[in-house]
Amino acid sequence: MTKPSQHAQDAHDTRPPPRPAPGPFPDELDVPYLDGEYEDGNALAGPLSEIFAVDLTAAEGRCTGCGTTGPIARLHVYGPAPGLVARCPDCGQVVLRLVRGGDAAWLDVRGMVSLRIRIEG
Ligand SMILES: [Zn+2]
Repeated sequence: MTKPSQHAQDAHDTRPPPRPAPGPFPDELDVPYLDGEYEDGNALAGPLSEIFAVDLTAAEGRCTGCGTTGPIARLHVYGPAPGLVARCPDCGQVVLRLVRGGDAAWLDVRGMVSLRIRIEG
């Protein structure tokens, strides 16, 4: 790995550097979802397998809301439109959001402090 060059941008170019697109996620995290209308985190297995080589449903994430640590498979997954929203089963915090569209997938994991991924070997 090499660090990105500090001189990548032309010194004569006074335009601000391009900002990443904000993504397709709605700003409001607290979109109301009806109780009982969710699947468990195993519903994320297929969509996440498009992005990651390992099965993340067994990985353990720590919720930023209540600090509980548990497998992704335990999350309550709502969706599919406008994307999958996975909430902590203990406090309801949005842990993960996944939107798939066109040639890209958007993954928002702001509700996780960390993710422990078991690796073979
Ligand atoms: Zn929580």
